Amino acid sequence: MDRLAKRDYYEVLGVPRNATEAEIKKAFRALARKYHPDANKDDPDAAEKFKEINEAYQVLSDPEKRARYDQFGHMGEQMGGAGGNPFEGFGGFGDFGGFGDIFEMFFGGGRQQRPRGPVRGADLEYTLELTLAEAAFGCTKELRVPRTEECDTCHGSGARPGTQPVTCPKCRGTGQIQMTQHTVFGRFVNVTTCDRCRGEGRIIESPCPTCRGRGRVQKTQRVEVKVPGGVDTGTRLRMPGYGEAGERGGPPGDLFIVMRVRPDRRFRREGDDLFTNTEISFIQAALGTEIEVPTLDGPETIKIPEGTQPGETIRLRGKGTSRLRGSGRGDLHVVINVKTPGRLSERERELLMELAALRGEKVAGMTEQKEKGFFEKMKDALGGR
Ligand SMILES: [Zn+2]
Ligand SMILES: [Zn+2]
Repeated sequence: MDRLAKRDYYEVLGVPRNATEAEIKKAFRALARKYHPDANKDDPDAAEKFKEINEAYQVLSDPEKRARYDQFGHMGEQMGGAGGNPFEGFGGFGDFGGFGDIFEMFFGGGRQQRPRGPVRGADLEYTLELTLAEAAFGCTKELRVPRTEECDTCHGSGARPGTQPVTCPKCRGTGQIQMTQHTVFGRFVNVTTCDRCRGEGRIIESPCPTCRGRGRVQKTQRVEVKVPGGVDTGTRLRMPGYGEAGERGGPPGDLFIVMRVRPDRRFRREGDDLFTNTEISFIQAALGTEIEVPTLDGPETIKIPEGTQPGETIRLRGKGTSRLRGSGRGDLHVVINVKTPGRLSERERELLMELAALRGEKVAGMTEQKEKGFFEKMKDALGGR
Protein backbone atom coordinates (compact mmCIF):
# COMPACT_ATOMS: atom_id res chain seq x y z
CA MET A 1 0.00 0.00 0.00
CA ASP A 2 1.39 3.33 -0.94
CA ARG A 3 1.35 5.32 2.23
CA LEU A 4 2.86 8.38 0.59
CA ALA A 5 -0.03 8.87 -1.81
CA LYS A 6 -2.61 8.62 0.94
CA ARG A 7 -5.06 11.46 1.20
CA ASP A 8 -5.77 13.27 4.40
CA TYR A 9 -8.54 11.48 6.31
CA TYR A 10 -10.48 14.66 6.99
CA GLU A 11 -10.34 15.43 3.31
CA VAL A 12 -11.53 11.91 2.47
CA LEU A 13 -14.61 12.32 4.65
CA GLY A 14 -15.04 15.96 3.68
CA VAL A 15 -15.18 17.23 7.25
CA PRO A 16 -13.22 20.00 8.99
CA ARG A 17 -10.42 19.10 11.38
CA ASN A 18 -12.51 20.15 14.34
CA ALA A 19 -15.50 18.04 13.30
CA THR A 20 -17.48 16.38 16.08
CA GLU A 21 -17.90 12.62 16.34
CA ALA A 22 -21.46 12.97 15.11
CA GLU A 23 -20.41 14.97 12.07
CA ILE A 24 -17.76 12.41 11.21
CA LYS A 25 -20.26 9.59 11.56
CA LYS A 26 -22.79 11.38 9.41
CA ALA A 27 -20.28 12.15 6.68
CA PHE A 28 -19.04 8.58 6.72
CA ARG A 29 -22.51 7.09 6.44
CA ALA A 30 -23.41 9.28 3.51
CA LEU A 31 -20.20 8.47 1.67
CA ALA A 32 -20.30 4.79 2.53
CA ARG A 33 -23.76 4.52 1.05
CA LYS A 34 -22.71 6.38 -2.04
CA TYR A 35 -19.63 4.28 -2.71
CA HIS A 36 -20.77 0.92 -1.41
CA PRO A 37 -19.54 -1.61 -4.00
CA ASP A 38 -22.93 -3.30 -4.12
CA ALA A 39 -24.40 -0.09 -5.43
CA ASN A 40 -21.51 0.61 -7.79
CA LYS A 41 -20.92 -2.68 -9.55
CA ASP A 42 -19.93 -0.90 -12.75
CA ASP A 43 -17.48 1.46 -11.16
CA PRO A 44 -14.16 -0.22 -10.34
CA ASP A 45 -13.00 2.88 -8.48
CA ALA A 46 -15.89 2.70 -6.02
CA ALA A 47 -14.38 -0.20 -4.07
CA GLU A 48 -11.10 1.68 -3.70
CA LYS A 49 -12.97 4.78 -2.67
CA PHE A 50 -15.10 2.86 -0.20
CA LYS A 51 -12.01 1.32 1.34
CA GLU A 52 -10.43 4.73 1.70
CA ILE A 53 -13.56 6.11 3.38
CA ASN A 54 -13.66 3.19 5.79
CA GLU A 55 -10.04 3.58 6.67
CA ALA A 56 -10.50 7.27 7.36
CA TYR A 57 -13.53 6.56 9.49
CA GLN A 58 -11.80 3.83 11.50
CA VAL A 59 -9.20 6.34 12.54
CA LEU A 60 -11.28 9.47 12.98
CA SER A 61 -14.09 7.72 14.88
CA ASP A 62 -11.70 6.40 17.49
CA PRO A 63 -10.63 9.22 19.83
CA GLU A 64 -7.26 7.59 20.54
CA LYS A 65 -6.40 6.93 16.92
CA ARG A 66 -7.71 10.30 15.90
CA ALA A 67 -5.46 12.07 18.41
CA ARG A 68 -2.49 10.09 17.15
CA TYR A 69 -3.40 10.89 13.57
CA ASP A 70 -3.82 14.58 14.34
CA GLN A 71 -0.33 14.58 15.84
CA PHE A 72 1.59 12.32 13.47
CA GLY A 73 -0.48 12.06 10.34
CA HIS A 74 -0.52 8.73 8.50
CA MET A 75 2.68 7.74 10.23
CA GLY A 76 0.73 7.68 13.47
CA GLU A 77 -1.31 4.67 12.40
CA GLN A 78 1.61 2.33 12.25
CA MET A 79 2.43 3.18 15.84
CA GLY A 80 -0.99 2.10 16.94
CA GLY A 81 -0.36 -1.62 16.97
CA ALA A 82 -3.37 -3.74 16.24
CA GLY A 83 -4.35 -2.49 12.84
CA GLY A 84 -5.54 0.89 11.69
CA ASN A 85 -7.34 -0.78 8.85
CA PRO A 86 -9.92 -3.41 9.70
CA PHE A 87 -9.81 -4.81 6.19
CA GLU A 88 -6.19 -5.84 6.29
CA GLY A 89 -7.23 -8.83 8.35
CA PHE A 90 -9.51 -9.97 5.55
CA GLY A 91 -6.71 -10.69 3.13
CA GLY A 92 -7.35 -8.08 0.54
CA PHE A 93 -10.30 -6.50 -1.01
CA GLY A 94 -11.10 -8.83 -3.83
CA ASP A 95 -13.57 -10.75 -1.75
CA PHE A 96 -16.58 -8.66 -0.94
CA GLY A 97 -18.19 -11.56 0.86
CA GLY A 98 -16.83 -10.83 4.28
CA PHE A 99 -17.12 -7.20 3.73
CA GLY A 100 -20.86 -7.03 3.51
CA ASP A 101 -20.93 -8.33 7.05
CA ILE A 102 -18.80 -5.48 8.26
CA PHE A 103 -21.11 -3.10 6.50
CA GLU A 104 -24.10 -4.72 8.16
CA MET A 105 -22.41 -4.30 11.51
CA PHE A 106 -22.05 -0.61 10.94
CA PHE A 107 -25.53 -0.11 9.73
CA GLY A 108 -27.36 -2.67 11.76
CA GLY A 109 -28.86 -4.49 8.83
CA GLY A 110 -29.52 -1.50 6.91
CA ARG A 111 -32.44 0.54 6.04
CA GLN A 112 -34.75 0.31 9.00
CA GLN A 113 -32.76 1.92 11.73
CA ARG A 114 -34.99 4.94 12.17
CA PRO A 115 -38.71 5.00 12.85
CA ARG A 116 -40.11 4.84 9.37
CA GLY A 117 -41.74 7.88 7.87
CA PRO A 118 -44.77 7.95 5.57
CA VAL A 119 -45.03 4.87 3.38
CA ARG A 120 -46.84 4.80 0.07
CA GLY A 121 -49.59 2.19 -0.17
CA ALA A 122 -49.06 -0.93 -2.24
CA ASP A 123 -50.18 -1.11 -5.86
CA LEU A 124 -53.04 -3.45 -6.68
CA GLU A 125 -53.63 -5.49 -9.79
CA TYR A 126 -57.06 -6.46 -10.99
CA THR A 127 -57.79 -8.72 -13.93
CA LEU A 128 -60.78 -7.59 -15.96
CA GLU A 129 -62.41 -10.03 -18.36
CA LEU A 130 -63.90 -8.56 -21.51
CA THR A 131 -65.71 -9.85 -24.55
CA LEU A 132 -64.09 -9.17 -27.88
CA ALA A 133 -66.67 -6.49 -28.70
CA GLU A 134 -66.08 -4.74 -25.34
CA ALA A 135 -62.35 -4.79 -25.99
CA ALA A 136 -62.78 -3.66 -29.59
CA PHE A 137 -65.05 -0.70 -28.95
CA GLY A 138 -64.40 0.12 -25.29
CA CYS A 139 -66.85 0.00 -22.40
CA THR A 140 -67.48 1.22 -18.88
CA LYS A 141 -67.22 -1.31 -16.07
CA GLU A 142 -67.82 -1.09 -12.37
CA LEU A 143 -65.28 -3.10 -10.44
CA ARG A 144 -65.39 -4.17 -6.83
CA VAL A 145 -61.81 -4.13 -5.69
CA PRO A 146 -60.89 -5.30 -2.18
CA ARG A 147 -58.21 -3.12 -0.64
CA THR A 148 -56.98 -1.94 2.73
CA GLU A 149 -58.01 1.55 3.71
CA GLU A 150 -57.33 3.80 6.62
CA CYS A 151 -59.53 2.90 9.61
CA ASP A 152 -62.30 5.48 10.03
CA THR A 153 -62.55 4.91 13.78
CA CYS A 154 -58.95 5.80 14.66
CA HIS A 155 -57.99 7.61 11.44
CA GLY A 156 -55.08 5.28 10.98
CA SER A 157 -53.43 5.74 14.35
CA GLY A 158 -54.47 2.30 15.59
CA ALA A 159 -55.23 3.73 19.04
CA ARG A 160 -58.66 3.57 20.67
CA PRO A 161 -60.44 6.92 20.14
CA GLY A 162 -59.55 9.27 22.99
CA THR A 163 -56.17 7.61 23.50
CA GLN A 164 -52.84 8.20 21.80
CA PRO A 165 -49.96 5.93 20.92
CA VAL A 166 -47.23 6.38 23.51
CA THR A 167 -43.48 6.62 23.11
CA CYS A 168 -41.86 3.20 23.23
CA PRO A 169 -40.14 2.81 26.60
CA LYS A 170 -37.54 0.36 25.32
CA CYS A 171 -35.99 2.53 22.62
CA ARG A 172 -37.32 5.84 23.95
CA GLY A 173 -38.96 6.58 20.64
CA THR A 174 -35.94 6.14 18.38
CA GLY A 175 -37.14 2.80 17.04
CA GLN A 176 -33.66 1.36 17.32
CA ILE A 177 -31.42 -0.28 19.87
CA GLN A 178 -27.72 0.49 19.74
CA MET A 179 -25.10 -1.84 21.06
CA THR A 180 -21.38 -1.09 21.03
CA GLN A 181 -19.24 -4.09 20.24
CA HIS A 182 -15.51 -4.30 20.79
CA THR A 183 -13.93 -6.70 18.33
CA VAL A 184 -10.41 -7.37 17.12
CA PHE A 185 -11.15 -5.05 14.21
CA GLY A 186 -12.10 -2.16 16.42
CA ARG A 187 -15.21 -0.75 17.92
CA PHE A 188 -18.52 -1.19 16.14
CA VAL A 189 -21.86 0.22 16.94
CA ASN A 190 -24.46 -2.39 16.17
CA VAL A 191 -27.86 -0.88 15.52
CA THR A 192 -30.94 -3.08 15.43
CA THR A 193 -34.62 -2.34 15.05
CA CYS A 194 -36.40 -2.15 18.39
CA ASP A 195 -38.31 -5.39 18.94
CA ARG A 196 -40.84 -3.84 21.30
CA CYS A 197 -42.24 -1.29 18.83
CA ARG A 198 -40.85 -2.93 15.65
CA GLY A 199 -39.05 0.28 14.81
CA GLU A 200 -42.12 2.49 15.02
CA GLY A 201 -40.85 4.34 18.10
CA ARG A 202 -44.38 4.32 19.49
CA ILE A 203 -46.59 1.61 20.93
CA ILE A 204 -50.34 1.38 21.22
CA GLU A 205 -51.47 0.54 24.75
CA SER A 206 -55.18 0.59 24.05
CA PRO A 207 -55.86 -0.57 20.49
CA CYS A 208 -58.70 0.68 18.32
CA PRO A 209 -61.57 -1.86 18.48
CA THR A 210 -62.40 -1.54 14.79
CA CYS A 211 -58.99 -2.34 13.32
CA ARG A 212 -57.44 -4.00 16.39
CA GLY A 213 -54.58 -1.53 16.34
CA ARG A 214 -53.60 -2.01 12.72
CA GLY A 215 -54.86 1.41 11.71
CA ARG A 216 -56.11 -0.11 8.46
CA VAL A 217 -59.13 -2.17 7.52
CA GLN A 218 -60.17 -4.31 4.55
CA LYS A 219 -62.85 -2.70 2.41
CA THR A 220 -64.35 -3.25 -0.98
CA GLN A 221 -64.16 -0.18 -3.14
CA ARG A 222 -66.27 0.37 -6.20
CA VAL A 223 -64.25 1.64 -9.09
CA GLU A 224 -65.78 2.78 -12.34
CA VAL A 225 -63.35 2.22 -15.15
CA LYS A 226 -63.64 3.47 -18.71
CA VAL A 227 -62.00 0.92 -20.94
CA PRO A 228 -60.86 2.52 -24.20
CA GLY A 229 -61.56 0.75 -27.49
CA GLY A 230 -58.75 -1.39 -28.84
CA VAL A 231 -57.42 -2.94 -25.63
CA ASP A 232 -56.19 -6.49 -25.83
CA THR A 233 -55.22 -9.21 -23.38
CA GLY A 234 -52.37 -7.87 -21.29
CA THR A 235 -53.19 -4.17 -21.76
CA ARG A 236 -52.77 -2.43 -18.40
CA LEU A 237 -54.74 0.60 -17.28
CA ARG A 238 -53.35 2.59 -14.37
CA MET A 239 -55.74 4.27 -11.95
CA PRO A 240 -53.61 6.48 -9.72
CA GLY A 241 -54.58 6.53 -6.05
CA TYR A 242 -56.92 3.52 -6.21
CA GLY A 243 -54.40 1.12 -4.66
CA GLU A 244 -53.92 0.35 -0.98
CA ALA A 245 -53.96 3.14 1.56
CA GLY A 246 -50.59 4.55 2.59
CA GLU A 247 -49.18 4.31 6.10
CA ARG A 248 -48.39 7.17 8.45
CA GLY A 249 -49.80 9.73 6.05
CA GLY A 250 -48.18 8.24 2.93
CA PRO A 251 -50.05 8.45 -0.38
CA PRO A 252 -52.13 5.51 -1.62
CA GLY A 253 -50.77 3.14 -4.24
CA ASP A 254 -52.14 2.73 -7.75
CA LEU A 255 -54.60 0.26 -9.17
CA PHE A 256 -53.53 -1.55 -12.32
CA ILE A 257 -56.31 -3.12 -14.35
CA VAL A 258 -55.06 -5.89 -16.59
CA MET A 259 -57.31 -6.82 -19.49
CA ARG A 260 -58.10 -10.36 -20.46
CA VAL A 261 -60.16 -10.72 -23.60
CA ARG A 262 -62.21 -13.90 -23.76
CA PRO A 263 -61.65 -15.92 -26.93
CA ASP A 264 -64.37 -15.45 -29.53
CA ARG A 265 -65.32 -18.46 -31.61
CA ARG A 266 -66.03 -16.33 -34.67
CA PHE A 267 -62.98 -14.09 -34.77
CA ARG A 268 -59.26 -14.44 -34.36
CA ARG A 269 -57.45 -11.21 -33.56
CA GLU A 270 -54.09 -9.95 -34.70
CA GLY A 271 -53.46 -6.43 -33.46
CA ASP A 272 -56.31 -4.29 -34.74
CA ASP A 273 -57.22 -6.78 -37.46
CA LEU A 274 -59.70 -9.61 -37.16
CA PHE A 275 -59.89 -12.86 -39.09
CA THR A 276 -62.92 -15.02 -39.66
CA ASN A 277 -63.30 -18.27 -41.58
CA THR A 278 -66.19 -18.94 -43.92
CA GLU A 279 -67.07 -21.91 -46.06
CA ILE A 280 -68.46 -22.06 -49.57
CA SER A 281 -68.97 -25.00 -51.91
CA PHE A 282 -66.65 -25.60 -54.85
CA ILE A 283 -69.49 -24.72 -57.15
CA GLN A 284 -69.97 -21.37 -55.42
CA ALA A 285 -66.24 -20.85 -55.59
CA ALA A 286 -66.26 -21.58 -59.30
CA LEU A 287 -69.31 -19.53 -60.19
CA GLY A 288 -69.13 -16.77 -57.61
CA THR A 289 -71.85 -15.92 -55.07
CA GLU A 290 -72.94 -13.67 -52.26
CA ILE A 291 -72.70 -14.83 -48.68
CA GLU A 292 -73.37 -13.47 -45.23
CA VAL A 293 -70.43 -13.20 -42.84
CA PRO A 294 -70.34 -12.14 -39.18
CA THR A 295 -68.72 -8.83 -38.26
CA LEU A 296 -68.47 -7.08 -34.88
CA ASP A 297 -71.12 -4.69 -36.23
CA GLY A 298 -73.50 -7.48 -37.17
CA PRO A 299 -73.89 -9.76 -40.22
CA GLU A 300 -72.78 -8.39 -43.54
CA THR A 301 -73.26 -9.66 -47.09
CA ILE A 302 -70.14 -9.94 -49.20
CA LYS A 303 -69.58 -10.85 -52.82
CA ILE A 304 -67.44 -13.87 -53.68
CA PRO A 305 -66.04 -13.45 -57.19
CA GLU A 306 -66.10 -16.38 -59.57
CA GLY A 307 -63.00 -18.49 -59.61
CA THR A 308 -62.21 -17.92 -55.93
CA GLN A 309 -59.49 -20.28 -54.72
CA PRO A 310 -59.42 -22.06 -51.34
CA GLY A 311 -57.63 -19.95 -48.69
CA GLU A 312 -58.17 -16.65 -50.48
CA THR A 313 -59.15 -13.78 -48.22
CA ILE A 314 -61.51 -10.93 -48.70
CA ARG A 315 -60.69 -7.80 -46.75
CA LEU A 316 -63.42 -5.66 -45.19
CA ARG A 317 -61.78 -2.36 -44.43
CA GLY A 318 -62.56 -0.70 -41.11
CA LYS A 319 -64.35 -3.74 -39.70
CA GLY A 320 -61.59 -4.69 -37.23
CA THR A 321 -61.16 -3.35 -33.71
CA SER A 322 -60.68 0.30 -32.78
CA ARG A 323 -57.07 1.37 -32.64
CA LEU A 324 -55.93 1.89 -29.05
CA ARG A 325 -53.37 4.39 -30.25
CA GLY A 326 -54.50 6.48 -33.17
CA SER A 327 -57.86 6.67 -34.81
CA GLY A 328 -59.99 4.47 -37.00
CA ARG A 329 -60.30 0.73 -37.02
CA GLY A 330 -58.40 -2.26 -38.33
CA ASP A 331 -59.72 -4.58 -41.01
CA LEU A 332 -61.66 -7.82 -41.04
CA HIS A 333 -60.18 -10.58 -43.19
CA VAL A 334 -62.62 -13.20 -44.38
CA VAL A 335 -60.76 -16.42 -45.16
CA ILE A 336 -62.57 -18.52 -47.77
CA ASN A 337 -62.58 -22.28 -47.29
CA VAL A 338 -63.87 -24.27 -50.24
CA LYS A 339 -65.81 -27.38 -49.37
CA THR A 340 -66.19 -30.37 -51.59
CA PRO A 341 -69.57 -32.13 -51.38
CA GLY A 342 -69.39 -35.53 -49.68
CA ARG A 343 -72.31 -37.62 -50.88
CA LEU A 344 -73.71 -37.06 -54.31
CA SER A 345 -77.06 -38.02 -55.72
CA GLU A 346 -77.21 -40.04 -58.90
CA ARG A 347 -78.06 -36.97 -60.93
CA GLU A 348 -75.33 -34.86 -59.39
CA ARG A 349 -72.79 -37.58 -60.15
CA GLU A 350 -73.95 -37.68 -63.73
CA LEU A 351 -73.58 -33.95 -64.12
CA LEU A 352 -70.14 -33.92 -62.61
CA MET A 353 -69.04 -36.81 -64.80
CA GLU A 354 -70.21 -34.87 -67.77
CA LEU A 355 -68.33 -31.86 -66.60
CA ALA A 356 -65.20 -33.93 -66.07
CA ALA A 357 -65.50 -35.39 -69.55
CA LEU A 358 -66.02 -31.94 -70.94
CA ARG A 359 -62.92 -30.62 -69.24
CA GLY A 360 -60.89 -33.67 -70.16
CA GLU A 361 -60.27 -34.55 -66.51
CA LYS A 362 -59.77 -38.15 -65.60
CA VAL A 363 -61.88 -39.11 -62.60
CA ALA A 364 -62.61 -42.32 -60.71
CA GLY A 365 -65.70 -44.32 -61.72
CA MET A 366 -65.66 -43.02 -65.28
CA THR A 367 -67.32 -45.71 -67.38
CA GLU A 368 -65.46 -47.53 -70.10
CA GLN A 369 -67.75 -46.02 -72.66
CA LYS A 370 -67.41 -42.47 -71.47
CA GLU A 371 -63.69 -42.88 -71.17
CA LYS A 372 -63.56 -44.31 -74.64
CA GLY A 373 -65.75 -41.59 -75.90
CA PHE A 374 -63.38 -39.11 -74.41
CA PHE A 375 -60.33 -40.64 -76.05
CA GLU A 376 -62.11 -40.86 -79.36
CA LYS A 377 -62.86 -37.19 -79.10
CA MET A 378 -59.24 -36.52 -78.28
CA LYS A 379 -58.10 -38.41 -81.28
CA ASP A 380 -60.59 -36.55 -83.39
CA ALA A 381 -59.37 -33.30 -82.02
CA LEU A 382 -55.77 -34.24 -82.76
CA GLY A 383 -56.73 -35.36 -86.23
CA GLY A 384 -55.75 -38.96 -85.59
CA ARG A 385 -57.04 -42.26 -86.98
ZN1 LIG B 1 -58.79 1.79 13.93
ZN1 LIG C 1 -39.16 0.78 20.59
